[in-house]
Amino acid sequence: MPVRAWVGLGANLGDARATLRAALRALEALPRSRLAGVSSLWRSAPVDAQGPDFFNAVAALDTTLAPMELLRQLQAIELDHGRERPYRNAPRTLDLDLLLYGDLCQDDPVLTLPHPRAHERAFVLAPLGELAPALHWPGRQETPPELLRTVHDQPIERLDGDWR
Ligand code: ADP
Ligand code: MG
Repeated sequence: MPVRAWVGLGANLGDARATLRAALRALEALPRSRLAGVSSLWRSAPVDAQGPDFFNAVAALDTTLAPMELLRQLQAIELDHGRERPYRNAPRTLDLDLLLYGDLCQDDPVLTLPHPRAHERAFVLAPLGELAPALHWPGRQETPPELLRTVHDQPIERLDGDWR
């Protein structure tokens, strides 16, 4: 049975919108997976990172890939789009984070699920809340819109509902 996984997309260098579009095409082409939904495009100021504003979106993926296989696939897509990792939180052409993989909870630093910072990032919670306002967040009581209210100080702007 496929598992519903949630992927956070971010880019803040170069033509970020074009990069995110290309990343969506790559997600559509993943093996054993179906792209089940895409949020609007959002813009946010960098959090714990440098450089220009980020463009962000969230995608829903129904997949039979194992969590670690899916992470490897996401990292391969990042590399295809020229991502370099000169230092932690450096500006990046493309960042793909595995936010949630069904209800799976695990503490492995290589793949922590749910993503350890997703619940406190407006640029995740706003697009995720569009697609799944009643989503059960493993290990938490609050829905994405409720979590979003706790980070209302993080500026974020909805740009475009039809960008893919
Ligand atoms: P960040 O997205 O936090 O700015 P990176 O994308 O450079 O940083 O990821 C750093 C490391 O985080 C990766 O090597 C990856 O193995 C690890 N990691 C742990 N949990 C996750 C997750 N849920 N999604 C993506 N990467 C993760
Ligand atoms: Mg990442």
